[in-house]
Parts: sequence; C-alpha cells; structure tokens
Amino acid sequence: MEKYALDSYLTEIETTITKRGKDETGNFVCLKETIIYPGGGGQPADSAWIENNAILKVQKTNEGIRYYLGIEVEELPDSVSVKIDWDKRFDLMQQHTGQHILARVCEDLFQVRITKEQITVTDSFFEIDDQLNALQLKTAITRSNEIIRQHKNISILFPTEEELAKETLFTTPPKYFDNLRLIKISDFDIIGCGGTHVNNTAEVQALALTQVKEHKKGTTLHFACGNRLLHQFETNQKQLAALTLQTKVPVDALALAFQEQEQTIKYYQTQVALYQVNELVSNAKELSTHFVYSEITDTEPKTLQTAALQLADIYPEALICTATSDEDNLRYHLYQKKADTRHQVGQLIRLVNQELAGRGGGSPTKGDGNIPYLQKDTFLRYLQQ
Ligand SMILES: [Zn+2]
Repeated sequence: MEKYALDSYLTEIETTITKRGKDETGNFVCLKETIIYPGGGGQPADSAWIENNAILKVQKTNEGIRYYLGIEVEELPDSVSVKIDWDKRFDLMQQHTGQHILARVCEDLFQVRITKEQITVTDSFFEIDDQLNALQLKTAITRSNEIIRQHKNISILFPTEEELAKETLFTTPPKYFDNLRLIKISDFDIIGCGGTHVNNTAEVQALALTQVKEHKKGTTLHFACGNRLLHQFETNQKQLAALTLQTKVPVDALALAFQEQEQTIKYYQTQVALYQVNELVSNAKELSTHFVYSEITDTEPKTLQTAALQLADIYPEALICTATSDEDNLRYHLYQKKADTRHQVGQLIRLVNQELAGRGGGSPTKGDGNIPYLQKDTFLRYLQQ
C-alpha cells in the first residue's frame, strides 16, 4: 500500500519485504507498504533508506515498485525499517503546495492557464499561457501570501462519482475518475494531484518569485517557499553584504555600478585593441617580396584582422600575415587585397594544415588558422615562397 498518498507526514515505518530480485538495473526489493514517494507529476522521488541502506533508484513496474539497493538483498531480514529524508521531503511539500496556491491565484486573477509545472530540489516553476506585468505579478504574490496566512486546511480526497459531482471549486474538472486523488485547499482550490503536500497553508510559510522568464508561448514563473526561501534569502544577503563591503556601493546601486564598470572595461579594451593594431602595423616586416609578417603576444582575432587590413593599404600587392601566440600555438590571420590566382589564401591554409598539423580555413582573399608554435619558422619559410 502506498501510504505516502494518504499521509504526507509519515517519515518512518516497519514493513515486510514481498520480493527480492535482480534485474539489469541491480538488486531490488519490493515492499508491502511504502512511505517513499516514487516521483512523478513534476515532483522528484524521495531519498530514503531501507535498514539504513540508501535506495539508489526507484522504479514503478507492473508488479509493484522496485527499490534498488547497493547490497546483497538476500541479507536483509523479512521485516525492515524504512526511513525517508524528511528535510528533502518537507521542502518539496512546501514547494508543491506553494505551486498549487500561486497557480490558482494566477488562474483566478488573470484567467491564465497552467501549461507545465516542475519542482526540483533547487528550483520550482510553472508556465502560464500569457504574460503578466509587474503589477499583476506583485498582486499575485501578495494574494498567495494572504492565502498562506489564512491557515487553510488541506485535505486529500478519493471521491466517489457523486462526491466529485458536488465539487464546485475546480478550474479544470478532472477528465478521468479511476484512482482519482484530489488535493483540496479548504474553500480555495481543488485539483487532481498525486504529489505530497503540507496539511495546512500556514506550513508553506511564505512564497516569493525568484525569476520571471517571458517567452513566445507565455511566461515561466520561478518561485521559492518556506525553508528554501529563508535559506536562499540568507545566502543571498550574505553574498550581497560581501559585495557591498568590497565595492563600497549600496545594494540598490549595485546593478548600476556594475553596468558602469562594464562600460569602463569595454572602453579600455577598445584602447588596448587600438594600441595592439598600431603595434602590429608598426612592427610589420617585409620578410620577402610580397610577404609581410607581424606578430604580438596575446591579442584578439579582431585585432589581427584590423591590423591586416591597414597593412594591406600600405602593401597592396603583398600577402599579409598577422599573428599572435597563445600558450603552445601560433594563431594567424592571412589577408591579400587581390585574389592571387597562384596563392589563394584558403588553399594556402589547407596546405599549412597538412604540412604543419595546423587548423583553420578561409576564402581566396582571407582566412584564419593556428599551428603549433614550434612550427613557426617552417610556417614563415613556407609563406615566403
Ligand atoms: Zn500538484
């Protein structure tokens, strides 16, 4: 019997093993009764132990639920103790009930439809088929926390058809009746759901949005409830305090300060790039007739390209090679103003690749590649010919 479906607060039971076996996944047992949520309906499975042995995997089969263990299951007694990771379970219960509350509030206030829902151990979210503005989102959160504070009882129902017919709270009445399990939040909400829930809205403690992502088909609302919310708040506050101490910028000005800093960094990056282009141009040497080479350490591909273009204005007939070294490689850019029928750049790079274990490619007039730095002298001799 699946006891978690009747009572979400069972953390430990004594039960008997009904089957022991081994399949391609490993050694497993089946249990007469269980308090372990096996996963499904957007809620992950519980972490649990049988006689203090961690369950590695839970799998539903036609013959019942299989619990896989990393031990020889023959060694287990017939009567075993089963225990779940209550901290993890209670966290998921808080998130799942919070999700029912926020979803119903959105449905009631803004006539949206829920299209997807998912709770993991780090993130909870659901999708709605519309977009909500900042004021609507704020209203939904305020309303959800009101519901939480109203201390509404939550019950698990397995209704008869007559009982089901009398329920008027549904936004979408269930399409099936077999094994129908309902989660009812007092006078507020009722929905078909197999998950584990707290038994009073007050146990959700509080609910806040953590992220709102708009997309073509609607919006994804990420949220956190209860202990998870407290924990995230504490962690974030500590991080913010460390940031404000380091930057000496108050919290509400941090985003702007980082934006300004980013602009400053971009400005200096541009200055460095200009300086590097000048270096490449002024250091360039005609190694042979119609071959010009220039190299500096540590620069961006864009800088190599810009310098090559400038050099081509000075040496319009030449094949230009600008290069930079990084770690064990020489990265290069080749450019010639006119497509030379004898030496097309793309072909040259292909030959270099073959001869010198290089990589890269290009068009008749320009291209990029890299070779092991040790091959640099051979590379230059090759291009001079
Ligand atoms: Zn649910």
